[in-house]
Amino acid sequence: MLFDLSSRLAERRAADLHRQRPLLESPQGPLVRVDGEALLAFCSNDYLGLANHPQVIQAMADGARRWGVGGGASHLVIGHSTPHHELELALAEFCGRPRALLFSTGYMANLAAVTALVGQGDTVLQDRLNHASLLDAGLLSGARFARYLHNDADSLAARLGKASGNTLVVTDGVFSMDGDLADLPALCAAARAHGAWVMVDDAHGFGTLGATGGGIVEQFGLSLEDVPVLVGTLGKAFGTGGAFVAGSEELIETLIQFARPYIYTTSQSPALACATLASLRLLREEGWRREHLRVLIERFREGAQRIGLPLMDSPTPIQPLLVGSSGRALRLAQYLRQRGILVGAIRPPTVPQGTARLRVTLSAAHEEAQVERMLEALADGWAALGDDGDD
Ligand code: PMP
Repeated sequence: MLFDLSSRLAERRAADLHRQRPLLESPQGPLVRVDGEALLAFCSNDYLGLANHPQVIQAMADGARRWGVGGGASHLVIGHSTPHHELELALAEFCGRPRALLFSTGYMANLAAVTALVGQGDTVLQDRLNHASLLDAGLLSGARFARYLHNDADSLAARLGKASGNTLVVTDGVFSMDGDLADLPALCAAARAHGAWVMVDDAHGFGTLGATGGGIVEQFGLSLEDVPVLVGTLGKAFGTGGAFVAGSEELIETLIQFARPYIYTTSQSPALACATLASLRLLREEGWRREHLRVLIERFREGAQRIGLPLMDSPTPIQPLLVGSSGRALRLAQYLRQRGILVGAIRPPTVPQGTARLRVTLSAAHEEAQVERMLEALADGWAALGDDGDD
């Protein structure tokens, strides 16, 4: 039967892979209201607690009053307004790069950068655990597309040896479902030896890593030559929305001229750009947010180790617990929910088969006592799951 959607959906349910969208009935924050219940949440990417910050809200309200709500048109027609322009200048300065270009989402920034830089006759090489938007971008580009083993510079070098045309090496900065950091010094050295360019999607590192929040590139002290294409997103640590690519004057001009996901879409709301300018100011002035987050990460990892939870090797606010089967991940998440705690169960195809996990994320908005409460519930839930058998 053509378009047999009901069988497709039934198969998904039978495999414990059916996804549900929780309905958030409050603003973002540690304490939320979801589907009628008050819950303590550990699943947002609002790492610095800025999504609901009064100054960011005020900036957006003032921005809407002054500039209106809608972008109105694409950037190349008449959608590029003063707040977008100021935000691009501020982001470029913050990253220490000549120019930055604003996008409405990180998904689009990734599609734009990859498809504008490589095409037929070229090569794109990606970490096998890269975010879906990067993998989709590689396929869409029409370039020869190969994946290398996770974070493995030798595996990358072997593929670089067979590459032809312009070669782009693409990696997440912080892997979104594992929380580990890309081994950028080794990956960049391998790329340089073969004349390839490196593109880093630092969606989860930008704002949280590095002495000033400059992300993974700042943390490793890398230059524009090491990483010519840097992507940051604004819907996570910045608490707002959108994304940007930062790089040389020529890179940005190339994207403006050739990147279809840039050219053929309406600009983001100018009021949102005003909000992001306020977030950037807070992120720079309030270093205590990153420091508090670091303390919470240590606290969570120490506690989880004590209980014997299956932590992954992550120094970031993404602290997944590798539970194994989708059924076990769901049961643990459901147990926590009964205890008033919300955590996402991440299952295939988002992660490889047999590696379902609870993706615990920490935020500077959490208090230490809330992390302790989470650990207590996890200890009980993990013990209960042990008797449950692995399926
Ligand atoms: N890159 C990574 C690594 C991500 O995790 C995400 C979103 N979760 C994106 C890109 C897409 O960003 P956005 O949500 O702004 O589209």
